[in-house]
Amino acid sequence: MISASAGLTGYSLSIPSNLPPITQIGDRIVQIRLPMSGNPMRYINGYLLEDDDGLTLIDCGWRADDVLAALEQGLELAGFSLGDIKRLLVTHFHFDHYGLAGTLVRKGIPELGMHARDWGFLVAREQRTADTDSIVDAWLERNGLPVVPEPDDEESFYDRYDFTEPTRLVEDGERIGRLRAMWTPGHSPGHLCFVDTISGRTFTGDHVLDPVTPHVGMWHESGRDAMGEYIASLRTVGALETSGALPAHGEAFPDLARRVEELLAHEAQREADVLRALESGPLTGTAVAGTLKWRRRGDRFDQLPPEHQQFAVAETLAHLEHLRTRGEVVRHDDGMGITWARADDSATSN
Ligand SMILES: [Zn+2]
Ligand SMILES: [Zn+2]
Repeated sequence: MISASAGLTGYSLSIPSNLPPITQIGDRIVQIRLPMSGNPMRYINGYLLEDDDGLTLIDCGWRADDVLAALEQGLELAGFSLGDIKRLLVTHFHFDHYGLAGTLVRKGIPELGMHARDWGFLVAREQRTADTDSIVDAWLERNGLPVVPEPDDEESFYDRYDFTEPTRLVEDGERIGRLRAMWTPGHSPGHLCFVDTISGRTFTGDHVLDPVTPHVGMWHESGRDAMGEYIASLRTVGALETSGALPAHGEAFPDLARRVEELLAHEAQREADVLRALESGPLTGTAVAGTLKWRRRGDRFDQLPPEHQQFAVAETLAHLEHLRTRGEVVRHDDGMGITWARADDSATSN
């Protein structure tokens, strides 16, 4: 399904040269930029916080030698070493946030914390790794997106994971050293943000990014309304009194509430566009995605590479499922494929 390089094989980018390897944020917080070679996101931020009982690292990058080297260099520049890290907290299970965790635990980091719903997702996937891609492919196919076979030499994102069991499952509201955890499902089922009780800053993971719009998708029949969860979690974070956001990708931004408002407006616009697409009658999820504009430059769906088309359809389906949960859209499954229709167009519903 989704390759580590998101369709950009042979395309190599690293941390932009105008940015240093680390930035001292203040209040004993250090941002370490960890490379995501070949990925348009370019880098993920590991954040190091000094606490009374040692260092906490939030997010660790994916499993790769250049990531481990960048982490060790960043620690050294900040005056520390790996042995000073008392705990690793991951905001969510995605490979760019959790992938290196197993390596770091084996190197002696004693504590690893994440949310139970994300750990449960990884366990379930590990138990049926061979089937996971086919579950996703079958779901997308039933929603009108034909599967494009990947070349055999394509790097899988499973290669970027070094699995290890967390030593602690972090709950909403839990206090961990100077941090308070906030469960913010949507981008992943167990996504966590962390509020720093000393500086008032919020570590937003992939929940709130700027200028990127975080991906929220329905990748299989999950029984979840991921978009509904995401919008509710955005409102929770938007209501925080905070002195600034420290996102997992890109650079710190001061006004979290403003960015949350922009993302809420974006999702509301998308939802209106999806509803408008159904005005002419029932459509597959892929046909709805075909009516929308994609990427920041507003590409047509058919201009996207296959992997991006998968993300686009999964996102469209998350909107459709949210509208269905709210009673505005109905779904019809004839056993071969799924179509979606406005709820008032009841002749086509089941
Ligand atoms: Zn993510
Ligand atoms: Zn990420």
